[in-house]
Amino acid sequence: MPYDVAVNVEQKVLDLMGRAMGRFSMLRPGDKVAVGVSGGKDSLSLLHAMVAYRKRAPFPYELVAVTLEQGKFKLPVIALAEKIRGLGVEWVVREDWSTLDLVAQNIPHGCDVCSRNRRRRLYQIASELDCTVLALGHTADDCSESLLRNVMFNGRIASLPPVAHSQKGNLRLIRPLVYVTEDLSTEYARAQGLLAIRCVCSEKESIRKEIRAFLDDMRSKHPAVPSSIMAALANVNPYALFDPKNTGVEVEIDSANIPPR
Ligand code: SF4
Repeated sequence: MPYDVAVNVEQKVLDLMGRAMGRFSMLRPGDKVAVGVSGGKDSLSLLHAMVAYRKRAPFPYELVAVTLEQGKFKLPVIALAEKIRGLGVEWVVREDWSTLDLVAQNIPHGCDVCSRNRRRRLYQIASELDCTVLALGHTADDCSESLLRNVMFNGRIASLPPVAHSQKGNLRLIRPLVYVTEDLSTEYARAQGLLAIRCVCSEKESIRKEIRAFLDDMRSKHPAVPSSIMAALANVNPYALFDPKNTGVEVEIDSANIPPR
């Protein structure tokens, strides 16, 4: 990739990340941030971008990269070492025993179990490391896919919030890449020479892949679809839904939106 293109990609990612950080007040002065590095390109892009963003940030913050061994990487985890250490960031590698046991006993499990285990362990490790923040590399595409998956399979309207708090309230979970598309994150990782070690199950068919394929197809036919979904996530009208908590409230009825019987 030519140098000026790489610089341009970096600027775009840092601008979008800065916008998300500012809009959702993701960081506070003196924060110590554990960045979950799953081995995929998005989390590596996040780590790299959070290092680069320190030059722009209005206050200092500390970073520590955390990688979990779940028995699913295609390459030995050490393949990440050179790049992460080259960023001047402390790197902590720990095991997620719950998932390693499932893998060792050949017990089938889906992404929901695997990612729940990973999240729980990341929270634990971030607390042990005295971090105030856990940063995850979910992109705008992940947020769209999560919204559709929750609507179609979990019976709720929900996505991945840019900021959330742990149950104990001692950790802030942030997703600084929520405005960055997967395509842009991929370009960023390529421009920075970040090697993703990916998981062995990434080629398996899954609901997630079906939703991705659907969204890709819609985007190829209607380029504005991704930005409309992102706009919808910030434009929720609870009174136009069925939740009993919000019914019985008088609202102006738009007859154009009432379907014919
Ligand atoms: S793709 Fe594999 S490693 Fe990734 S969340 Fe799903 S089960 Fe876990």
